[in-house]
Amino acid sequence: MSATVIDGKAVAARVRGEVAADVQRFAAEHETSPGLATVLVGDDPASHVYVSNKIKACEEAGIRSIHHGLDADASQVDLLDLVAELSADDAVDGILVQMPLPEAIDQDAVVAAITPTKDVDGLTATSAGLLAQGRPGMVPCTPLGVMELLRDAGVEVSGANAVVIGRSILVGRPMAALLTNASATVTVCHSRTRDLGAVCAAADILVAAVGSPRMIAGEWVKPGAAVIDVGINRTDDGLVGDVDFEPAASRAGSITPVPGGVGPMTIAMLLRNTLSAARARRRSAAQAV
Ligand code: NAP
Repeated sequence: MSATVIDGKAVAARVRGEVAADVQRFAAEHETSPGLATVLVGDDPASHVYVSNKIKACEEAGIRSIHHGLDADASQVDLLDLVAELSADDAVDGILVQMPLPEAIDQDAVVAAITPTKDVDGLTATSAGLLAQGRPGMVPCTPLGVMELLRDAGVEVSGANAVVIGRSILVGRPMAALLTNASATVTVCHSRTRDLGAVCAAADILVAAVGSPRMIAGEWVKPGAAVIDVGINRTDDGLVGDVDFEPAASRAGSITPVPGGVGPMTIAMLLRNTLSAARARRRSAAQAV
């Protein structure tokens, strides 16, 4: 292996430490700490674990958690009412509705009900539009975490050829927008892309966000490229990414492992987004006076 392995755990720990220190300063100035409301509908075990981890991370950073658990048979109206209440609540700076929601609930309608200034997951159309226009706003945590990893690893983004595989609202699309805003030349690939290997081979920065175990072959990696593997796939061999790690690492300049690469960054960026939302709300309240 010749690539430098990018240590997402270490970068996430650094970001979380910085957020905790900034939260202390915020609390000293505003006599309250930032507050994150989490909403969980139903009893999916994986979703419970994700939300518990987010609440624990908030506690460690000094961020207040306000948790709402709804029964699996909660109606869409119940959920929309709750989101409207949280959007209006001055003690809440960020709103996180854990996805996926039960099938009977229209996920898009719930996301649309989140007030954009508290949209710490960056999923509303307003947040996506601001990002697409290169204007300040809330950005989805995982692609934001990827940008932090690239920065930490000293990868030059401006002018680089970047290839993003995946075009989801959660990862691929905001990833492509962030790279474009950072002056990379970006190609977005998806399930209809022809000759994916040839497209990948031109990438100085290759971001895989597909959800297909080891589908990115080592020989697709341009020698010296930065390879960021967002994929998390449960297999008989345990958790693996979308990139065939060993052969890719023998050609890449730097590469993220799975686990321990992008994964830990998502919660770290959620904490940072919550603090940013709290600061932005206080700033606009002060300007309104
Ligand atoms: P998603 O919504 O299922 O999107 C997958 C994307 O991959 C789609 O755009 C799809 O194309 C594309 N795709 C599927 N097969 C392909 C192929 N053969 N060639 C090229 N593109 C193909 O998934 P997601 O939510 O973006 O998540 C992607 C992966 O990242 C998953 O493994 C997920 O678990 C992981 N993830 C990790 C984190 C983290 O914290 N590390 C956070 C979020 C997600 P079409 O649009 O044409 O269907």
